[in-house]
Amino acid sequence: MRHVAVIGSGPAGYYTAEALQKQFGDEVRVDIIDRMPVPYGLIRFGVAPDHQSIKAVYRRYEKVALSDNVRFVGNVLVGRDVTVAELRGLYDAIILATGAPSDRPIGIPGDDLPGVIGSAAFVGWYNGHPDFADLDPPLDIETAAVIGNGNVALDVARILSKTPAEFVGSDIVAHAFSMLGNSAIRSIHILGRRGPHQIAMTPKELGELAHLEDAVPRVELDDFPPELDDALLEPGQRKSVTHLRDFARLEADKRKTILFDFFAKPVRIEGEGKVERLIVERTMLDERKAAIGTGETYEIPCGLIVSCIGYKTPPIEGVPYEEDRGRFANHEGVIGEGLYAVGWARRGPTGTIGTNRPDGYEVAERIAADLGSARGRKEGRPGLDRLLESRGVDVCTFRDWQKIEEAEIQRAREGSPREKFVAITDMLGARGR
Ligand SMILES: Cc1cc2nc3c(=O)[nH]c(=O)nc-3n(C[C@H](O)[C@H](O)[C@H](O)COP(=O)(O)OP(=O)(O)OC[C@H]3O[C@@H](n4cnc5c(N)ncnc54)[C@H](O)[C@@H]3O)c2cc1C
Repeated sequence: MRHVAVIGSGPAGYYTAEALQKQFGDEVRVDIIDRMPVPYGLIRFGVAPDHQSIKAVYRRYEKVALSDNVRFVGNVLVGRDVTVAELRGLYDAIILATGAPSDRPIGIPGDDLPGVIGSAAFVGWYNGHPDFADLDPPLDIETAAVIGNGNVALDVARILSKTPAEFVGSDIVAHAFSMLGNSAIRSIHILGRRGPHQIAMTPKELGELAHLEDAVPRVELDDFPPELDDALLEPGQRKSVTHLRDFARLEADKRKTILFDFFAKPVRIEGEGKVERLIVERTMLDERKAAIGTGETYEIPCGLIVSCIGYKTPPIEGVPYEEDRGRFANHEGVIGEGLYAVGWARRGPTGTIGTNRPDGYEVAERIAADLGSARGRKEGRPGLDRLLESRGVDVCTFRDWQKIEEAEIQRAREGSPREKFVAITDMLGARGR
């Protein structure tokens, strides 16, 4: 028998458990440990609440989650409740699938003013992450700026733009639903340092902006290279750029506007005790398509800035860490003897849900090669259970999660698939034991 601990129950954690099952069959026991009482990482707390078809991917992990040799050990924070060193003493292999949940700072003067919010916090707030329930973002303002040219920036701009009716069928949490419904925001700027050809936004997500009930996207056609150059783009990117060009033809007859500020580099945030304006330097592209400042600046008066510029993995004691890349130091997923990384903790915050799957399979093969035909020598589950019990940790099982989910579905508002619990105590209470 091999005993494997996977730390993190997001997509990377579950794909890895699936791969380990395929690799070792019934000769493996996998414990998926998560700091949250509920599984699935960013599928619950990151993917936008109005994208239910994407969130539904978690149903695919249930087959793995419900199999006899895979166990969910929730409400256990590795680094606090148990250390990696202790886990190494108990399991034949440890796989870090902890994601990249911390916002990278913008790194400009004023980025610590109230009203500057990282996307992990903002997205966590509207998705009911317990860490961000009290965020209270300023929405009683007219203009917001969203920094970044990826899909997370689009999610944030779209959520800020939607009417209450457009959230029907979503699982947006009640506190965000009510605050967004009373929002005074009329303009949302999306800033990118480079141009339309350099965006990291996918066509489906961009296309959605053209169909919002009460908001319209705007672009300046002067920002675009000649249309003939679009032919040089790969098909997906070309489609995205076509959506952007089409935005210029939309009628500006709605209450809210989403403005694309290309070639725009934030240089300073100003305000008396809170965000009042963002100072932006216009840029141009050099021959390597990198953005260089022109020295010309303009200001965007705004009361909320959400930065969607990437994330990092928090370090864990005893695990080598690459500070500059914000992830665990690893070579093709191997950190050290018996210690591996998958998903965003391995690669950094790039790629879609499916991008995490090959990581799991690669690591499972690697573990098979490293362990060889030798039977594992570690104690595994009973040892962890003893340790956690001695520390009074209130572990959440997969059955507990199913009860939490049932309770969330039962208390759902009309038209919503569920009404998420936000506080950990409420999640634990919903287990009914
Ligand atoms: C805002 C946002 C929207 C996105 N939307 C989409 C989308 O629409 N479609 C798409 O394909 N992809 C989307 N993605 C990308 C997708 O979510 C990621 O590719 C994927 O979640 C990464 O998986 P992961 O398992 O590495 O990390 P995560 O999903 O972050 O999972 C990490 C898990 O580790 C746990 N954990 C962390 N530290 C510890 C610890 N010390 N102890 C115990 N547990 C710990 C966390 O609680 C979490 O459950 C989005 C990402 C973001 C940020």
